Amino acid sequence: MLSNPKPPALPCPLKTFQAALKGRIRVKEVKTQEGIVPLPEAETVVSAGRGMKDPANWGIVEDLAATLNATTACSRPVADSHWRPHHEHVGQTGIAIRPNLYIAIGISGAIQHLAGVNNSKVIVVINKDPEAPFFKAADYGVVGDLFDIVPRLNESLKKFKAAH
Ligand SMILES: Cc1cc2nc3c(=O)[nH]c(=O)nc-3n(C[C@H](O)[C@H](O)[C@H](O)COP(=O)(O)OP(=O)(O)OC[C@H]3O[C@@H](n4cnc5c(N)ncnc54)[C@H](O)[C@@H]3O)c2cc1C
Repeated sequence: MLSNPKPPALPCPLKTFQAALKGRIRVKEVKTQEGIVPLPEAETVVSAGRGMKDPANWGIVEDLAATLNATTACSRPVADSHWRPHHEHVGQTGIAIRPNLYIAIGISGAIQHLAGVNNSKVIVVINKDPEAPFFKAADYGVVGDLFDIVPRLNESLKKFKAAH
């Protein structure tokens, strides 16, 4: 039987419900974050990869996701490095998604990543390397430094939202 560790503090209210499984593991409680759409159901996904360089840099991704009411995702090496939780990992060995909009930030577009996201309706790629394979699968591409592009995109979107 697993111990029941104290849950980590989360920044928003929680929905709590009881669940139980037969066998050696008993789930006593499952908590989900209020207002966060799970990845398989998300209509808008903002996803980032190793181009982010460091987990401490994820604020700009989370800010953009908040502006777009999007769910965040990541590439596998990011999850493998514990920069982001594994439930955000999309691709062949992660979650397969088909949102209306998938924004890929600093992700190269390896075939194993594309396998989980290429059914997205619209794919936007932000990458500093114009030869990044992801651009071949993109509907819209921005070649540039994500640390410059993402905050500027977010500011423009916030202004657009405020005006409409
Ligand atoms: C069996 C198997 C299964 C796999 N399954 C998956 C899977 O399910 N999902 C998955 O994602 N991967 C999977 N992989 C790994 C996959 O092959 C790639 O290695 C991985 O997707 C690469 O992750 P990445 O794009 O984040 O990193 P990288 O390949 O390192 O790419 C980083 C990108 O960021 C860009 N970049 C860097 N700095 C900046 C900047 N300042 N501004 C803008 N762009 C920048 C670079 O140009 C580069 O294109 C699997 C591999 C194997 C062998």
